[in-house]
Amino acid sequence: MSRVLIVGAGLTGSLCACLLRREMPNKVIVVWDKSRGAGGRMSTSRSPSDASCIVDLGAQYITATTYYAKMHQNFYEELLAHGVLKPLVSSVEGEVMKDGGHKNYVSPTGVSAIVKHFLKQSAGAEVFFDHHVTHIYQKGAIWEVCRKGGAPEQFDAVVLTMPVPQILQLQGDVGSLLEKSQRQQLEAVSYSSRYALGLFYKAQAHIDVPWAAKYISNNPCIRFIAIDDKKRNLESPECGTSMVVHTSVPFGIKHLEEAKEQVEPLILEELNKLLPGLPQPDSIKCQKWRYSQVRSSVADCPGQMTLLSQPLLVCGGDGFTHSNFDGCIESALKVFDVLKHSL
Ligand SMILES: Cc1cc2nc3c(=O)[nH]c(=O)nc-3n(C[C@H](O)[C@H](O)[C@H](O)COP(=O)(O)OP(=O)(O)OC[C@H]3O[C@@H](n4cnc5c(N)ncnc54)[C@H](O)[C@@H]3O)c2cc1C
Repeated sequence: MSRVLIVGAGLTGSLCACLLRREMPNKVIVVWDKSRGAGGRMSTSRSPSDASCIVDLGAQYITATTYYAKMHQNFYEELLAHGVLKPLVSSVEGEVMKDGGHKNYVSPTGVSAIVKHFLKQSAGAEVFFDHHVTHIYQKGAIWEVCRKGGAPEQFDAVVLTMPVPQILQLQGDVGSLLEKSQRQQLEAVSYSSRYALGLFYKAQAHIDVPWAAKYISNNPCIRFIAIDDKKRNLESPECGTSMVVHTSVPFGIKHLEEAKEQVEPLILEELNKLLPGLPQPDSIKCQKWRYSQVRSSVADCPGQMTLLSQPLLVCGGDGFTHSNFDGCIESALKVFDVLKHSL
């Protein structure tokens, strides 16, 4: 029975696992992710002292344009039916959208619920966290995959869904398999970098602003702020409020190689200038997004790139489309197409 390894439990990897499970139930599906939990750049963080107080550190809300609402209707309907998505009803100041007919959605239990939903739908898939892939070797008709701190394992097919620079960092046979044009295409993919701060407050704390989320223009440090529970329309007196702050890309790039501990106070100082009188947070989580959103994807957005067909080694993720929910869905569908014809 074919054994398929999916590297990455972000949205692309999870949906690949789900599609495989639904349409090819006899395959053994294994998912490895280097993090401690599912989500990738759709991650949700919890307050250390109050598990109900959460913050989305990466993706904030899902925007369905008229085109993609129709194109990916079944996925939107599935997530709405399970309560994983709900319409965003709170106010987002300064949002720029070209498509007047778009709809925004939020996840009431945090954006990682989208990824977890698709992992759950891949029932039977073996999902392992703290599994950091380092080397991939071709051994005849199979792949041998090595990870930090564990024994190598063998697979009939491997799907890579991490950001493109992390694919290029893999050791073993990946580098030598790449054709010159593939390498050029992959090396041309670029990402923005930014920091995110998650601030968790005690239940009594109140943040008095007229919006749930706001894009900040003309600030060198801060680009976006959301009162996370308000964004999800879930404000409750029993639960502490939470806030997420995204820095601008120039700030992210300028401080990219510094330690998070050094950068956090700089962001807090700017936040307190923008919103004076904020209550003292109970705890803070600082996240460096070295690979935040795709600025330039693989040319013509093919959704996937097949590095070898037998044994199959295929890459996907937002680097092959565009950086949002629909970009990941599009990529997962393209990767699944390749898997279907190869396995
Ligand atoms: C700050 C920010 C704001 C955003 N805002 C929005 C938004 O509002 N709306 C929206 O739709 N999108 C938004 N996005 C984009 C969206 O989050 C991404 O497009 C999407 O999450 C990418 O999913 P993915 O599965 O392709 O990649 P990822 O989520 O990056 O998943 C890849 C996974 O691979 C794992 N991995 C990496 N290397 C290895 C390795 N060697 N071994 C094992 N595992 C590995 C990682 O831990 C990760 O979990 C935002 C992103 C960021 C960072």
